Amino acid sequence: VPANPGDRTIAHLDVDAFYVSVECCRRPELLGEAVVVAGSGPRAVVTTASYEARRYGVGSAMPAAKARRLCPQAIFLAPDFALYQQVSRQLMALVRAATTRVEVVGLDEAYLDLTELSFPHAAMRRLVAVIAERTGLTCSVGIGPNKQVAKVASDAEKPAGFVVLTRAQACVRFAQAPPELIPGIGPKTATRLRELGVRTIEDLAQTPVELLGERFGTNAGRGLARMARFDHDGEVSDERAVVSASRERTFDHDLSDPAELERALANMARELCGSLSKQGRSGRTVSIKVRLDDFSTVTRARTVSRPTSDGEVVADVALGLLRDYRPSRPVRLLGVRVAGFGADAAGSAGAAATPERSVPATIATDQLLLPL
Ligand SMILES: [Mg+2]
Repeated sequence: VPANPGDRTIAHLDVDAFYVSVECCRRPELLGEAVVVAGSGPRAVVTTASYEARRYGVGSAMPAAKARRLCPQAIFLAPDFALYQQVSRQLMALVRAATTRVEVVGLDEAYLDLTELSFPHAAMRRLVAVIAERTGLTCSVGIGPNKQVAKVASDAEKPAGFVVLTRAQACVRFAQAPPELIPGIGPKTATRLRELGVRTIEDLAQTPVELLGERFGTNAGRGLARMARFDHDGEVSDERAVVSASRERTFDHDLSDPAELERALANMARELCGSLSKQGRSGRTVSIKVRLDDFSTVTRARTVSRPTSDGEVVADVALGLLRDYRPSRPVRLLGVRVAGFGADAAGSAGAAATPERSVPATIATDQLLLPL
């Protein structure tokens, strides 16, 4: 029973090294080895590395060539997304059986609202055990009064972590961590914070909200101040609340030809809309992401008058955004996103206030729907 009427108990569950773990389940001889799941081709990046490989400095989103240099003895596997999706469905069925409110935020990650349960910690221990027994996967769990605390807690002691924190405990435990530790504070925001002299979460908590408001805008400033106190109040929303979907592609060779870029972008837009229509989803905000050969990355967005999943409409808007932007250098990566699902996009319109979330530019994003 919650101590205060408004208190909630939220868990974040995250499978450890998901792709690698799935590979180890079907090939147990891989267990304990340095294993890297990465695409092939000159621009391939690491999607997941086993903890043994991470010891050599191999990490997600790192170029595969660099991973080979750091850990030449690692076993490199090509990703098998069909299998990962199949295992994910099995996993999420077990997660949904644990409580009524579940928000799936990736193939291997979900938030669970446990407020109604009498013994939430025991329920999560049981769920972790059932997942291990049925799927062979190891998870890390964080439990707290909100999604923010739960998420940071689940990351804190990976693999096989089980961390329960109050808001005050989270503030103390992560006081000296950089602001990027907080989901929603990306590298760009962190850089701007450093310009204000803010290097730690504690620094951020001590920065006057007025100053943050001047620098980031009133809403975003308020959001940052709340995040610094681990007091972010996002609801655990069910599946329908997935707010965006995207496709992106890293080219094997940088592209400079506008016609080629437009062709690639239009294809991605149509492909994305094909899968949105199948799911009965549509959105009002179309955005593009362009990463240049110097790794600078920009996004440009436009909101249309009504929700759409029409490939031609989305392609049109995306191409317009690309033409307006006119990349000044060769393009390494191009992406398109449709956001603001559902009738009322007001919540996500404030997304300017929700700073960027880093989604690694992996080939995985070509295949998957990634919630924002
Ligand atoms: Mg994971």
